[in-house]
Amino acid sequence: MRRINPGSVNSYIKYGNLKIPKIIQCECPGCRKRTEFMLNANYQSSKNGIVTECSCPECKKQSAFIIMTREVVDEQSEYADTYIYDLQDSIHPIHQIENLPNIPKDLIRAYRSALNVYQSRETSATAVMSKRVIESITKHFLGEHSNGLPLSKQLELLPEQVDLDKPIQSLSKLLETDKTLHRMLELETEMDYETTSLLMDLLESLIEYLFILPGKIEITNSKLANKFN
Ligand SMILES: [Zn+2]
Repeated sequence: MRRINPGSVNSYIKYGNLKIPKIIQCECPGCRKRTEFMLNANYQSSKNGIVTECSCPECKKQSAFIIMTREVVDEQSEYADTYIYDLQDSIHPIHQIENLPNIPKDLIRAYRSALNVYQSRETSATAVMSKRVIESITKHFLGEHSNGLPLSKQLELLPEQVDLDKPIQSLSKLLETDKTLHRMLELETEMDYETTSLLMDLLESLIEYLFILPGKIEITNSKLANKFN
């Protein structure tokens, strides 16, 4: 299940006291293209919500949409929360990283084992596999420099070997005043639909990179630190 961002709803229709989506722009769970779904009006209702289907204009596969009519998250809102059934989104992130080209295979294997032993509550095995995951990450970036060094030292050296600035710097290049994207943002050139979709992906990644990920790591760090102090 993937929540539909209200910004991705192009039009609504009335459903009792609520407004429910009629046209949604989102990624198709079948072909992964971002496209426009016009929801069928033959709703199947249940206690908490309604389910409807819509076929993707690109790949023709049917997708199910779940519209929560009972519990509106924000009580001030008259817009119903909507989800798309997307199997890939409901399974673990391991399946999403497995297809990335730059991730070492031994890291994926170690991480998958760590998840398995953690799920079976095997605490010692989880400790062993977690250490292996961290070592696999540092070995990937530090190569032979990591040999024989304690984990803390390896992590300390990591920022020297990973170009953490690169994602921001490449964005900065893209936004230079003579570049198309900059002209589009200034409305000097019209932005096409595909670019708006890519722009949304970019915003999401940027927020994730600068706020969400550092925040998550910081929170876990302080939880661990508090636990051992
Ligand atoms: Zn599709």
